Amino acid sequence: MTKIDDLPIRDELRGQSPYGAPQLDVPVQLNTNENPYPLPEPLVARIAERVAEAARHLNRYPDRDAVELRTGLAAYLTDTTGFAVTKDQVWAANGSNEVLQQLLQTFGGPGRTAIGFEPSYSMHALIARGTGTGWVSGPRNEDFTIDVDAARAAIAELRPDVVFVCSPNNPTGTAVEADTVLALYEAAQAAGPSMVVVDEAYVEFSHRASLLPLLEGRPHLVVSRTMSKAFGAAGLRLGYLAADPAVVDAVQLVRLPYHLSAVTQATALACLEHTGTLLGYVDRLKSERDRVVLGLRELGFEVTESDANFIQFGRFADTRAVWQAILDQGVLIRDNGVPGWLRVTAGTPAENDAFLSAVSTVSKEL
Ligand code: PMP
Repeated sequence: MTKIDDLPIRDELRGQSPYGAPQLDVPVQLNTNENPYPLPEPLVARIAERVAEAARHLNRYPDRDAVELRTGLAAYLTDTTGFAVTKDQVWAANGSNEVLQQLLQTFGGPGRTAIGFEPSYSMHALIARGTGTGWVSGPRNEDFTIDVDAARAAIAELRPDVVFVCSPNNPTGTAVEADTVLALYEAAQAAGPSMVVVDEAYVEFSHRASLLPLLEGRPHLVVSRTMSKAFGAAGLRLGYLAADPAVVDAVQLVRLPYHLSAVTQATALACLEHTGTLLGYVDRLKSERDRVVLGLRELGFEVTESDANFIQFGRFADTRAVWQAILDQGVLIRDNGVPGWLRVTAGTPAENDAFLSAVSTVSKEL
């Protein structure tokens, strides 16, 4: 039987594993930071209507520049942050993973490097690998905040082409202070100039404001967003970015023609029409998240401050055994490989009760 390594694959892919959060069929799935609420029926009906209309034109390629959708996303950003953004500052793709890939295809690539402060979203490093971009793992403090002085020193020394900041950070949960981003941006401009990408996939769940207003006067800053979390539309695959219009022009040099299908554009537009209802679910999830944080603390666990729809908790001598013990009770959570810590997504009240009951039976000694 032919194995991957028998194929003439690129050297840097040899022996590597693909992204692989387990997709197990268990009653309570709290492992991939999805939104537990299905889309409301009126929105499902509106999607059907919009997709039917799009289907009548599927003999044609979709709007290559997704102008109506980018206009809608710009209005959403403006309405929710108070920082005015136009469609020329917004770009959309199939999930924010594709947005990040297009950014690295444009600003990274062979002979170039990107830095991220780990533990952080594992796909930053994986997309770097996939695009032939060198990867550097930057420092964090014990409490998982970014060690600003060490980060500035690393940027000055290594002169990376792209700096990733994840806020709120996955898997630890905490949002990054605007001052930290400004310090890293300044260091990146002195060393590069290089691009700073702020991944705000979870920002709607944060106690703190979006970092979007930092775009003002900073053409090398990019803010990346997604409809997978707050909009509850992970299956849609729609991510987007906001940046200087020049950045939007630049990523078009690498995007595939007609990358965003007419069906995707129609569905995303329908979701935007129901923003109010969907953000109502975000409020519910935020209070459920806070309830789970309290519950975990009452049980005596350590919890990292969470601005997201997930919670990092610990500490455990054997995270694998705890993960398994919770799974044995029908609750799937995530072991991100952060020594001593596990991560759980905030679900519905019933799912969170099931998690709290399962975790109450595991000993911290495990
Ligand atoms: N950024 C972060 C920090 C994430 O956690 C995720 C999803 N887990 C993504 C980006 C990618 O999301 P999507 O491609 O669904 O937009």
